[in-house]
Amino acid sequence: MQFLKHIRRQKVATIFLICIFPLLLIAQDAPQNSGFGLAIHGGAGTILKSKMSAEKEQAYRSALESALEKGYRILEKGGSSLDAVEQVINLLEDDSLFNAGKGAVFTAEGTNELDASIMDGKTLNAGAVAGVKHIKNPISLARLVMEKSPHVMLAQKGAEAFAKRHGVSMVDEDYFYTKRRWESLQRRIEREKQKSGDGSHGTVGCVALDKDGNLAAGTSTGGMTYKRFGRIGDSPIIGAGTYANNKTCAVSATGHGEYFIRNVVTHDISAMMAYKNISLEEVANTVIMEKLVELGGSGGVIAIDAGGNITMPFTTDGMYRGYYLSGASPVVKIFKGE
Ligand code: ASP
Repeated sequence: MQFLKHIRRQKVATIFLICIFPLLLIAQDAPQNSGFGLAIHGGAGTILKSKMSAEKEQAYRSALESALEKGYRILEKGGSSLDAVEQVINLLEDDSLFNAGKGAVFTAEGTNELDASIMDGKTLNAGAVAGVKHIKNPISLARLVMEKSPHVMLAQKGAEAFAKRHGVSMVDEDYFYTKRRWESLQRRIEREKQKSGDGSHGTVGCVALDKDGNLAAGTSTGGMTYKRFGRIGDSPIIGAGTYANNKTCAVSATGHGEYFIRNVVTHDISAMMAYKNISLEEVANTVIMEKLVELGGSGGVIAIDAGGNITMPFTTDGMYRGYYLSGASPVVKIFKGE
């Protein structure tokens, strides 16, 4: 009996050593941060419940929810924050509701010129394109610039030649014609009160934190209605419209681009977090609700930090926005005070 017990004990010890112990070691080596999540925006501006039909509101809410769902599934499967950011933005670029890709606004000359940028918070690599006219998904071209060229930003014809060489999906200019944006340009022309453009909102952006603790940010836009041809806004400028750094946060902006460039908004949020060691929420509030407003600018940002904290301050009546954190449910909001 005694002998049998001894054998059994030995067997248990052997099983532990062969099967369980290595698992414990692996578990200790695994990254601590397995929380993940993302936040998105679909532009900020004069977005009032009183001026929006129930159907339109529903259309925006479900578009934002599908985008969150898409990003969440990528991150849940262990996909990278960069993949989540690119693919979420692709979805929004293909939706004519938003001022990016298909739904891009018109310049004063009746053309469409698109801007986009993406940044990897792990390596601080970044890519951007500006003023492109034939690119279906500018965010994907921005990622190619980051990964397949020695540059950070390519503009206009140079960007499009690079796109052709890499087999990127190109479209005719009339792909970007939508009745809604065309009419908005006509109204804008009639008002003749243009100074630097009052914007037609719907720029899209996404920030994400993946299971490995890597942050990424991306932004894509048609710019502002009635902008001068050749005008480039904040969206393709790293540090103004887009910024990501694993040590601090990932940020994407929307609003009157000239002010975001002058305030270097997204980098300012990251830098303030690093230097002052204060929370993302506090920092983003200071930069948007105080510094941007003081300069006369308007708009907002979405931001996420390495701990999965999300903040989305904006100065306007509304901002299409949402977030989805691991273990929780997706949240979509449009108006102020929601
Ligand atoms: N920031 C964009 C630009 O100035 C526009 C927007 O976000 O609505 O081009």
